[in-house]
Amino acid sequence: MTPSFSSILVNDVFGDPGLFVEVRWSKRALLFDLGHNEALGPTRLLRASEIFISHTHMDHFIGFDALLRVALGRGKTLRLYGPPGLIANVQGKLHGYTWNLVDGYPLTITVQEFHSDGIRTATFPAMDGFQRCDGLNSTLSDCTADGSFTALRDPMFTVRATSLNHRIPSFAYALQEQFHVNVNKERLHEAGLPVGSWLKEVKQYLWQGKPDDFCFIATLYHEHRKEERECVLGEVRERFLTITRGQKIAYVVDARYDQTNERKIVELARGADIFYCEAPYLDRDADKARDRYHLTARQAGVMAKKAGARDLVVFHFSPRYTGLGHEIEAEAREAFRGK
Ligand SMILES: [Zn+2]
Ligand SMILES: [Zn+2]
Repeated sequence: MTPSFSSILVNDVFGDPGLFVEVRWSKRALLFDLGHNEALGPTRLLRASEIFISHTHMDHFIGFDALLRVALGRGKTLRLYGPPGLIANVQGKLHGYTWNLVDGYPLTITVQEFHSDGIRTATFPAMDGFQRCDGLNSTLSDCTADGSFTALRDPMFTVRATSLNHRIPSFAYALQEQFHVNVNKERLHEAGLPVGSWLKEVKQYLWQGKPDDFCFIATLYHEHRKEERECVLGEVRERFLTITRGQKIAYVVDARYDQTNERKIVELARGADIFYCEAPYLDRDADKARDRYHLTARQAGVMAKKAGARDLVVFHFSPRYTGLGHEIEAEAREAFRGK
């Protein structure tokens, strides 16, 4: 089975935190945090349209400019999601430049701020010189008792968010594929059907929840000819597809280790295939970690274990441990895999 999401840390474990998640078989990507991001290169950066910000400490937001630079002049909408104050932060960044020659530019930036009583939205269109335009407020959806909610709902996946205590709100996120669609290539081959973009369309129909009797015209590209064939969704699913549980990726940075944060993190990361968790400190410096509202490697490992995550990736190491990255990784692994 090839997973639908391929995820990579934007930087080395000692570099600015950030996670880039590519949606396979599409030209889409999601980006978690905007620290330094030159390492991604313009092509990947341009692919990111949905950007989730934990908080706007510099190491999580300084890359906004680089993203804006590659997106400027493109006909796209950059969607930013994050903590209270994000709209003013974006506005402040935009105010740092002169925008008298962008009126023909089709780029739009939308920002959604998550407050405990709902979502505030603002739009900054390039064609108006990025003048702020406030949108309507909306309520948080699917809010649970411990405060996690759905930040984004796409037919294929959802992104859930929860606010953690970092002395300011720091948002953690979990990306969850609705379900995974596996294609049985052997059976396709036996039936004389080619693989190809028609299967992408089939997946879209399934994610959109189309009924079994839904009919569609599939364009099939055989070796030397093209065929238009009428198909019934339920039949295609039955014969050639297997539906399995969807992939889950959790992203947690900059949070203190306390009971409330732990409960929220464990809940959010429950059953994650990959749990990306900050681990700036070794546990021998747990006091310093607590003072700075950060986690230790052991705490990251303990929470990953409690969450039943399949894999744990620790990052956002403090420069004080330069050359000791393997110790941080070992401490996290031991707490995660240990009995
Ligand atoms: Zn921070
Ligand atoms: Zn940080």
